[in-house]
Amino acid sequence: MKALSRHATAIRPSPTLSLNARLNERVRAGERVLNLCVGEPDFAMPEGGRTAALRALAAGVDRYTDVAGLPELRARIQRKLHEENGLDVGPDQIVVSAGAKHALYNAFFVLCEEGDEVIVPAPYWVTYPEQVRAVGATPVIVPTHADTGYKLTAARLEEAVTARTKAVVLNSPGNPTGATYTERELAELAAVVERYDLYVVEDLIYEHFFYEEGTAPSMTAFPALRERTVLVNGVSKSCAMTGWRVGYTVASPAISALVRRIQSQSTSNVAAVAQHAALGALDDVPWRRLAGYRERRDIAHARLTAIDGIACPLPTGAFYLFPEISRLLGGDHGGRPLATADDFCDRLLETTGVGLVPGTAFGAPGHVRITYATDPAVVAEGLERLGAFAREIRRTAVG
Ligand code: PMP
Repeated sequence: MKALSRHATAIRPSPTLSLNARLNERVRAGERVLNLCVGEPDFAMPEGGRTAALRALAAGVDRYTDVAGLPELRARIQRKLHEENGLDVGPDQIVVSAGAKHALYNAFFVLCEEGDEVIVPAPYWVTYPEQVRAVGATPVIVPTHADTGYKLTAARLEEAVTARTKAVVLNSPGNPTGATYTERELAELAAVVERYDLYVVEDLIYEHFFYEEGTAPSMTAFPALRERTVLVNGVSKSCAMTGWRVGYTVASPAISALVRRIQSQSTSNVAAVAQHAALGALDDVPWRRLAGYRERRDIAHARLTAIDGIACPLPTGAFYLFPEISRLLGGDHGGRPLATADDFCDRLLETTGVGLVPGTAFGAPGHVRITYATDPAVVAEGLERLGAFAREIRRTAVG
């Protein structure tokens, strides 16, 4: 038979989703699993979202909506952008898609073609490089390190730019490191973006999980970049509505028209009832519920960094810790070698029931990702077991 599509076969499955499936299997088999892999907050979705959805169902919202989303939802997003991001856009600049993931896919589809390069700073969220590949372009991974707070600097960006570079991906607050860029750092990056005529795909899905003063800085602060930025956001994280699949892109009218066009020929509108739910949720000011996350971060970070051999900067956003564990690698646990973060996570799960994501999934070997958005008691016990596990490792590694 003829070969299947190169684009499709080049894509790797989502390691976080498959790991979650593996953990759920263990739970079904009756094992006690402490799942610190999940990428969703543990609070309930806003009541306003649920009532809006029920009301919409009762009213029979059974038909197609506008491809780009209900006019009232886009108007609500418009208001949110004005109030929170200082961004004034027309309704034709917003396209509602099936989650931020779909919004990102549309963005890459519209911006890139074969031969284009997209700069993706690592550690990165697992999906960016795969989506770039899926549209036939090439992800150019630029590693960042703890010494720059896992952030891309203007100098590193400039070094990575070639004649083929089309766009750069920014995710602040970021998954998996929880790093957030300052306005000054963004201004420096913005200057490079302008100088080399690039686009920015800015993923703001964690914007409300921000633990510094004020609001999370974003490229939206720079009017000169508005034409070249595709902003991606949604209700999955801030409203704890991961299952509803409502995200959106905000871009120039020209880019948005193409996003709408590709969506009109692929998925059409997001489920009408989900759009009503998002509208109700946005009106319920859900981010007040995020207040406890800073404290959770502090507690989890203190517990984690008390473990000998583990180093982790204090994240300023999102709800993950992304420690370096290289000092715990190279030795063995119970006679079995621990060479990589993957070995570490496999063995940890097998012997303690604690599930973490190995950093390899995010382009950062020697690290693991820990979520603190789940039940604080589970996080506390998980970190305690992690500490005991670390103490059992017979280290042959240096340091
Ligand atoms: N961007 C980042 C950085 C994420 O971590 C996630 C979810 N893990 C998404 C986008 C996807 O969000 P959604 O559920 O809205 O597709």
